[in-house]
Amino acid sequence: MKKVLVLEDEANIRSFVVINLRRSGYEPIEADSGELALEQLQRHPDIRVALLDVMLPGIDGIEVCRRIRASNSRIGIIMLTAKSQEMDKVTGLMNGADDYVTKPFSPAELIARIDALFRRTGGEQEIEDSGEIKQGPFKLNTRNRTLEKNGERIRLTQIEYSIIKLFMDNPGKALSREDILNEVWGRDYFGELKIVDVNIRRLRIKIEDDATMPAYITTVWGYGYKWGF
Ligand code: CA
Repeated sequence: MKKVLVLEDEANIRSFVVINLRRSGYEPIEADSGELALEQLQRHPDIRVALLDVMLPGIDGIEVCRRIRASNSRIGIIMLTAKSQEMDKVTGLMNGADDYVTKPFSPAELIARIDALFRRTGGEQEIEDSGEIKQGPFKLNTRNRTLEKNGERIRLTQIEYSIIKLFMDNPGKALSREDILNEVWGRDYFGELKIVDVNIRRLRIKIEDDATMPAYITTVWGYGYKWGF
C-alpha cells in the first residue's frame, strides 16, 4: 500500500484530505498532533510521503519535519501552509521539506504533488545502466541513490539527489530554473520556481566547501544554475 501520513489538527481539513487520498489509491495514516505524527512514523516505517500542517498546538509542523529528517532522508515531505505564512514555506524547505501546498488547495493539486513525490521517492523504480558517476570530489551511486564527497557520505533528500543527478548528467551546462523544475518535480507540477532556489540553497550548504561562495553549483544570473569545477 502507498502510505501517506496526514498531520493536520483541523478535523474537517484532515478528513477532506483523507477522503481524497483514499479515492486516489493511497492509504492515509492520520495524526492530529506532531507528537502523534512521530509515533505513527515509528509504527509505520513504510510511510513514504508525509503531509505536515505547519500551524499546530504543541510542536509545530516545521519541528516535526526537522525531527523526521534527522533520521530519515528517504521519506517525501510536503508542508501545508496558509497563504500568509510565506516565511514558513522557506523555513520548512530549509529544514528538509521537499514541497509545500498553500491552503486552500484543490484535491487535484494536492494529489498531483503527492504523485510527483512518490515517483521521486522511488515508487516507480528507475532503471539505471551504470552504478556510479564520478566528477571532481563527488561520487554519485545511482543504485543506492547516495552521494559522497572526498569519500564521505552526504545525506541527501530524494529531491536533492534528483537535482545532483541532473547536474552530473549535464556537467558545465547552464540549466534554467524551469528545466530543473520540469526534470526534478515533473511537468505536471504546478509549483513556483522559488522551490528550485530554496532546494539549491540547502544543497549548497551540504556540498559546497563554503556555501556563501559556491564553487560547484554556480548561479547563472537571470537564468538558472550550472554544475562544474
Ligand atoms: Ca493547523
